[in-house]
Amino acid sequence: MSVAVELRDVRKSYGAIDAISGLDLALRTGEVHAVLGPNGAGKTTAISIMTGLRRPDAGAVRVLDGDPREMRIRRRIGLTPQESGFPPNLRVGEILRLVRTHFEAPLADGELFRAFPLQPLLHRNAGGLSGGQQRILAAALAFAGDPELVFLDEPTTGLDVAARKSLWSAIRRHRERGTTVVLTTHYLEEAEALASRIAVLQSGQVLAAGTVDEIRTRVEQSRISYLGEIRKGLAGVAREERDGDNVILYAHDADAAVRALVEQRVPFARLQVRPATLEEAFVALTARGG
Ligand code: ATP
Repeated sequence: MSVAVELRDVRKSYGAIDAISGLDLALRTGEVHAVLGPNGAGKTTAISIMTGLRRPDAGAVRVLDGDPREMRIRRRIGLTPQESGFPPNLRVGEILRLVRTHFEAPLADGELFRAFPLQPLLHRNAGGLSGGQQRILAAALAFAGDPELVFLDEPTTGLDVAARKSLWSAIRRHRERGTTVVLTTHYLEEAEALASRIAVLQSGQVLAAGTVDEIRTRVEQSRISYLGEIRKGLAGVAREERDGDNVILYAHDADAAVRALVEQRVPFARLQVRPATLEEAFVALTARGG
């Protein structure tokens, strides 16, 4: 198994804030990896260390066959920064040309414009682009050099449905050509649609990592709701919360939870049990720390 990115016990603090605190990750070559996690989990910091934009305080970072701060490695990597600040007076076509000259065998125009609808914007100044158009340009730049490893930090935030779908197809096409893609997202739906592997970060560490199916099994839960009293620590329950008059339980074993409600004579009415959505389960997983 070939590994495109390996982090071992990586640490990074900003003053008193530990953004990354002992991060271990091994991302296989040729797969699409989704890095998920709540706000502030350390996703952007991790990506900036993997792309050589930030130096870790401690730990080992290996990207392709070297250090991402070496020019020979950076020339094999494409990235979409989360905050894209383009020189406002450069035209879109000029920015694309500039980035492509750094790569040995960049993508042909036809291939690039098939994925990213930039052709009508080529003569526009970057400063005049809408937020969504800037995101499309940023994503296009990550692929423009046809690199073997692409990092996308929240690439679809702010994109309309059509632009998001075309970015998804671009990612899939590149995966078929053997490109390794690492993307951060807040959308589980996006991770499921694109990625073969998921790493969930929390507080600068890996909370869970595995194939999409493994993560799904890990987080699969039932959602039980009823009108009545909240009772902590019931068998089979991962988390309990109140929503108005309703009590909501997230349970990894719904049968055990319902039996416990009855056995402990917790008064309840209008009991409902349904599978938790992946979104709900993910929130429950990060709330209980794994
Ligand atoms: P989000 O989903 O909100 O983008 P994230 O998972 O990408 O979050 P990071 O941006 O890596 O998280 O931030 C991790 C932690 O480090 C947060 O507590 C954040 O406030 C802090 N942090 C990030 N960048 C800086 C900085 N330049 N200076 C100080 N603190 C920072």
